[in-house]
Amino acid sequence: MRALVLLASVAALLLSGEASLASGRGKILWPKPIQLFQGELAEISVVGADLAAVAGVLGKERIGFYANGTAKFSAIVGADVDAKPATSKLRLRASTHAGMEARAEVPFTVKLKSFRQESFKVAPGFDQMTPENLEEIRREQAAFARVFAAPETDRLWEAPFLRPVPHEESASSFGRRRVINGTPRAPHSGLDLSAPAGTEVIATNHGKVVLAGNFFFAGGSVVVDHGGSLFTMYFHLSELRVGEGSLVRKGDVLGLSGATGRVTGAHLHWGARLANARIDPLELIKKISSHRPPAPQSEPPAIETEK
Ligand SMILES: [Zn+2]
Repeated sequence: MRALVLLASVAALLLSGEASLASGRGKILWPKPIQLFQGELAEISVVGADLAAVAGVLGKERIGFYANGTAKFSAIVGADVDAKPATSKLRLRASTHAGMEARAEVPFTVKLKSFRQESFKVAPGFDQMTPENLEEIRREQAAFARVFAAPETDRLWEAPFLRPVPHEESASSFGRRRVINGTPRAPHSGLDLSAPAGTEVIATNHGKVVLAGNFFFAGGSVVVDHGGSLFTMYFHLSELRVGEGSLVRKGDVLGLSGATGRVTGAHLHWGARLANARIDPLELIKKISSHRPPAPQSEPPAIETEK
């Protein structure tokens, strides 16, 4: 009698195909609704014993998921510093080893954050540019747009992320709003870290150097592509120690801090961009530092020598 019941349930499992997604081994746990303040990020996971892959889309952006231990796929999502407070949908699609597919829509809400604001007046014409300046600015914008348009798809980073310099945040915090002569300007899209000129600036994680050069506003600049649509940026450097195309490991020296570009003094401007959202780079340290390396199905993670 007992054996018959067992046989019957095995047969049911074999036959149940699609229904098994809803219960038992095929069950999928989706992320809860996501709420982020402007400039914040969150790590989200999709869990299921038989998961083979997960894909996500937020607005027009592809969200890259990676295997995170067994039976779990994770991704990081962020809200742009200037995103409109609203609720949109994160569309998810999961496939299982058994060849089934499931979809879900997770509400993604951006909340307004009260960033520090500063208003000041300057003499008319004070910040007007010469044609040469404007040409340099156009070149700068084009160079950055080019690298952001072609991100590495495979994730190269591994938690935790490191601070690029040991120093603390200076007065110019992330997200600060500026109003000049009554006109709102672009918000400050990075974090300024105080760093005496000549301080070694290290890569906050593994990645590929996709931009290394000198620019009008950003000065000596390095942009690292960490894969999965995550970039970090290091501006106002006095000296670059890497070139475009270099592969860097977490902790490698990218250059020396300085006061190049449009600045009032030596500091490091550290920026982060995740799926085209300008996020507070400190979020990388705060939110995903406890994250475990992916399951050892491809190759064992390299041993870090942190500085
Ligand atoms: Zn800055």
